[in-house]
Amino acid sequence: MKFDPASNIQHLKQFGEFGGVNPSITDSSTFTFLHADTMEETFLGHTEGCFLYSRHWNPTNKYLADALAAMEDTESAWITASGMAAITCAILQLCSAGDHIVTSVTSYGGTYAFLKNYLPKFNIDVSFIDITSLEQVEAAIRPNTKVIYTESVTNPLLQVANIPKLAEIAHQHGTLLMVDNTFTPMIMSPARLGADIVVYSMTKFINGKNDCVAGAICGSKKFVDDLSNVNNGTAMLLGPVLDPLRSSSIHKNLHTLHLRIRQHSKNAMFLALELAKAGLKISYPGLETHPQHELHKSLMNESYGYGGMLAIDFGSVQKANLIMQKMQQADVGYLAVSLGYFKTLFSCSGKSTSSEIPDSVQQEMGLSQGLVRFSVGLDNNIEDSLKLILDICHEEGVIS
Ligand SMILES: *Cc1c(COP(=O)(O)O)cnc(C)c1O
Repeated sequence: MKFDPASNIQHLKQFGEFGGVNPSITDSSTFTFLHADTMEETFLGHTEGCFLYSRHWNPTNKYLADALAAMEDTESAWITASGMAAITCAILQLCSAGDHIVTSVTSYGGTYAFLKNYLPKFNIDVSFIDITSLEQVEAAIRPNTKVIYTESVTNPLLQVANIPKLAEIAHQHGTLLMVDNTFTPMIMSPARLGADIVVYSMTKFINGKNDCVAGAICGSKKFVDDLSNVNNGTAMLLGPVLDPLRSSSIHKNLHTLHLRIRQHSKNAMFLALELAKAGLKISYPGLETHPQHELHKSLMNESYGYGGMLAIDFGSVQKANLIMQKMQQADVGYLAVSLGYFKTLFSCSGKSTSSEIPDSVQQEMGLSQGLVRFSVGLDNNIEDSLKLILDICHEEGVIS
């Protein structure tokens, strides 16, 4: 049988107290014990099903973690208060002073800034490479390399990582592969493709409502136990735990993720095809002209499409800014960062979500100043958006 992340979530039987169809919200930071020795055992991590304190584990977060582990087909998962918390905790759990990381140079701006500007404080060295070049990845590995880091589909250039090959290289050298799957939940299942750790910003597609920030780390039971270890677990000690009220609302939204992803993909594919036909410079993994189109096709789960993210190069920042303002006025969507929302969102990557990356590096990695990243919404009438975008592009002279 084909792997289906949506069915895996759907078949979980997670009930609330009194038979509620939704898991209960445990609105408590601390938990009582009938016997003092059970508390001691719980501190030592020896009791199953006991909760101690909400920074360690909360039952509501556990329900969401179980659902995410089912979606990713990992043994376990941990819920964080942001995507950056997931990324930074997972990396700090694996790396100590003197270690080394190989990472894709194209990645989320915050991730880039953490790797580039923050980790040197701990004497952790990072090599930035083109993740589509397996030669570059292999050449960058050193004896002290602990992690190869990439996004499944990179922000904002939408390069597709060859996860199985990267996992093979990582494991040959005794290192781990960590994949940020924020752009492609359900579309890609990195752990099934060989990744050891999968991280998410749930702020984006998973929650899909832009009403909170949240994240998740999916991996082996041992890794998650280590992260939450009371003595030396990075997540436990740095403490970026998600509030259970938020966790509960994200959990309910997770149950419609498969429908939303399909609609995001359908709308993005339609826009990409039509806008490319009109002569715009489009990057979308669903287009045959995308350099890793075949690779994406070979990695993706069936029926979820190529995702909601696409990029258009309008040439210059000035042009991009004008077009974005006009698109917002015409109600194509909102000029805003973030993604995975029901409305279309667009922003000029070089000056916003990738502004942490210096201009010279942006140029090297091929991030054009006029590149606008679109998170295509759930519009029921995407044809109208197409017409509006085409009209604006004609007006601005970017297509003839
Ligand atoms: C937004 C984002 C993050 C950071 O997540 P937050 O929830 O904002 O902390 C990390 N990776 C990618 C790919 C993102 O889009």
